Amino acid sequence: GPALLFVKTSQGREEGRRFYACSACRDRKDCNFFQWEDEKVSEARLAAREEYNRNHQPSFTHRQNVDRYKNFVLLPLSKRRFCQECQQLLLPAEWEKHSDHQFLCNITTTQLKSPSQLLYPLENKKTNAQYLFADRSCKFLLNLLIDLGFRRVLSVGTPRLHEMIQSKASQEEFNVRSLLLDIDFRYSQFYTEDEFCHYNMFNHHFFGGEAALETCRKFLNEENGEGVIMVTDPPFGGLVEALASSFKKLMAMWRETEKERHDNKEMPVFWIFPYFFESRILDFFPSFSMMDYQVDYDNHALYKHGKTGRRQSPVRIFTNLTPSMIVLPEEEGYRFCTVCQRYVSSGNQHCEICNSCTSKDGRRWKHCILCKKCVKPSWFHCSNCNCCTLQKHSCGKSDLGCFVCGKAGHKRSACPSLS
Ligand code: SAH
Ligand code: ZN
Ligand code: ZN
Ligand code: ZN
Ligand code: ZN
Repeated sequence: GPALLFVKTSQGREEGRRFYACSACRDRKDCNFFQWEDEKVSEARLAAREEYNRNHQPSFTHRQNVDRYKNFVLLPLSKRRFCQECQQLLLPAEWEKHSDHQFLCNITTTQLKSPSQLLYPLENKKTNAQYLFADRSCKFLLNLLIDLGFRRVLSVGTPRLHEMIQSKASQEEFNVRSLLLDIDFRYSQFYTEDEFCHYNMFNHHFFGGEAALETCRKFLNEENGEGVIMVTDPPFGGLVEALASSFKKLMAMWRETEKERHDNKEMPVFWIFPYFFESRILDFFPSFSMMDYQVDYDNHALYKHGKTGRRQSPVRIFTNLTPSMIVLPEEEGYRFCTVCQRYVSSGNQHCEICNSCTSKDGRRWKHCILCKKCVKPSWFHCSNCNCCTLQKHSCGKSDLGCFVCGKAGHKRSACPSLS
């Protein structure tokens, strides 16, 4: 899909020429597309790029994959193979071609219903950063959605939530449905065009064109748009402004047909993202607030639950729903603050001066009279800098700091919070 227009900045000032680069790959190694904004592109280069794009299409279309799946499930267990190297379900006629590849045999219906377990997570930090929900967090999210009365979930970059909904719906009396939007095309092998759209959330591009867009629009506006929520868990290295712009477009699709009826209501959203992005997200979505719930991941050693993992997860839920409606589990250490009218971490003390539960990371924060706000327990007030900061810092250095965590000394690309 369309590239994004970038500009280099230094100390907040724009510097140099603007250029276009790939929206999805933040590493030039993954996609080398680069073009100056004011550059004239020759016919030859255009043709070469089109040729390159044609040669880099997936080997099957979504439609073909849906047909292949239908044939695959008709096969006896002994003939159901999955090539681990190509990440592809194989039909018997194709075995030959993959004979020197590693493959799995006897693929069961259960395995087909949990593709996120079958496919390996794409951990490439800068592009896919596929971090899958731990079972407990995924169940928590789903139960929360059900308790809130939602019947349709637009799963944007949340394949595991999607798959939990899909497999429940096929097993029992369960009236929640999900549509997955994700850039990971491997999922097209397991879901129909009504269940999965190949989508880029950094530029709001539907690879399936108008038909896919229409699928999404219809899904959002069923039952007059009632009962739908969008849940998204983007890669954390992603540009917040690009994501916000896409999410606004998805939210606008919901309102398109039902302008009068919703009287300016927003489509409900859960945006799952690290807490240190709070101010960035609120810049774009002032109606959102951050919940204290710590979202845990399976394949991320650092982001596991405090009691069992090494460190507490920094990942939170941002939502435009009324905070008091988001009930957090008491057995996991959350409690309700009657003043703030929301559930908070047990360590999050209500500050009488700020009149709010101010901790962002679950630890007890302390109030600084001079800064007039609560700060991290490890900070102290430096009278030189006239603000609270780490004990170890070089005074007077007014570095603008990292875009991600706000700390000085490194840029967003090297932010330790992201690695
Ligand atoms: N916790 C989620 C997965 C989040 S990982 C779960 O368990 O369901 C981030 C997801 O976003 C991955 O599924 C990845 O494929 C997807 N993704 C990454 N870049 C994307 C892009 N540009 N557009 C759409 N989806 C993207
Ligand atoms: Zn293969
Ligand atoms: Zn409080
Ligand atoms: Zn305070
Ligand atoms: Zn202070």
